[in-house]
Amino acid sequence: MKSTEVKAFGAKTNTADLEQLQIDRRETLADDVEIDILYCGVCHSDIHTVRNDWGGSQYPVVPGHEIIGRVISIGKNVSKFKEGQLVGVGCMVDSCQRCQSCKDGLEQYCENGMVGTYNGKDEHLGGHTFGGYSEKIVVDQKFVLNVPENLDTKGVAPLLCAGITTWSPLRNWNVKEGDKVGVIGLGGLGHMGIKFAHALGAKVVMITTSPGKSEDAKRLGADEVLISKDEEQMAEHAGSFDFLLNTVPVKHDINPYIGLLKRDATMVLVGAIEPLEFHGGALIMGRKSVAGSLIGGIKETQEMLDFCGEHDIVSDIEMIDMQNINEAYDRVTSNDVKYRFVIDMLSLKN
Ligand code: NAP
Ligand code: ZN
Repeated sequence: MKSTEVKAFGAKTNTADLEQLQIDRRETLADDVEIDILYCGVCHSDIHTVRNDWGGSQYPVVPGHEIIGRVISIGKNVSKFKEGQLVGVGCMVDSCQRCQSCKDGLEQYCENGMVGTYNGKDEHLGGHTFGGYSEKIVVDQKFVLNVPENLDTKGVAPLLCAGITTWSPLRNWNVKEGDKVGVIGLGGLGHMGIKFAHALGAKVVMITTSPGKSEDAKRLGADEVLISKDEEQMAEHAGSFDFLLNTVPVKHDINPYIGLLKRDATMVLVGAIEPLEFHGGALIMGRKSVAGSLIGGIKETQEMLDFCGEHDIVSDIEMIDMQNINEAYDRVTSNDVKYRFVIDMLSLKN
């Protein structure tokens, strides 16, 4: 198959810094959309994958799954998109389209394995897929999202992962007006969780390890801030939450958070892909649940983007040049980002 070389940034080993590389992009096939990448968000998952925290990373890793760009060309079967249109690509670029999950619009749970935007199996060129830290990407139209033109484009990029990963569980667990919702961890995902829970009419409590983030949490839409290290404050909120969204990216003790749930309430984990321990009694005494959630399907991602367009919701971002990515990774891992880095891809093209 024909392909073209484009500039990208990636890591050659799990201990290496990211550096400039050349990668191949396939020619635009009948169902494909070729996208000139304008901006790409920096997700903590990018760092986990580069560092091989979850195992199975394939090198070079070219991360990036919060992609915003403009359509450069379309294949002959593409009717939904046209040249020049503003579009997005999130965490997936393909799935089997035949299994029940795909039929249900939940491609992220494809029973034959969805194809990740990076580090997925590349069925076209062989090897593995490369993500959005690059000049261009070619994606099947089914995995391309329409981006509302009224929003600040740079702040839209993080909606493609941080946005949908928090939106999907809030919707699936039917968070509604008046519910008391706790968002645990004020980072990229957490700040979108606050904005969405607030927009859905919930009473939002930011549950954080960082007292210094209190003011920001309130500005973002939290009604209250709960410092998770403060046992007295935790005791005051015991048994009072209808829903908890836990975005903590590392192994941690979830038992104190289970204690915050009301009877029949659920804590959804989206961050820690780790063995976690809890006391069965903590769930049994109160019919409580601990659940998990992975990104969101294409249909609900489009719904989320449309909701953001209507409610003027974007991510709070700090722009960086591609060349500053390694410093940005250090800042994310040391909990120093407000609240998402977004790469200006012009810096790679020049
Ligand atoms: P992030 O920007 O680094 O934010 C994580 C936040 O968690 C931090 O800001 C911090 O908030 C809190 N935190 C960090 N270390 C902690 C610790 N040891 N104990 C308690 N809290 C801690 O990360 P992100 O990009 O939002 O991603 C969060 C996690 O979700 C990552 O693991 C990422 O891989 C994962 N993820 C999952 C999905 C999915 O589909 N399920 C999708 C995208 C990302 P405070 O300072 O407020 O405590
Ligand atoms: Zn992500």
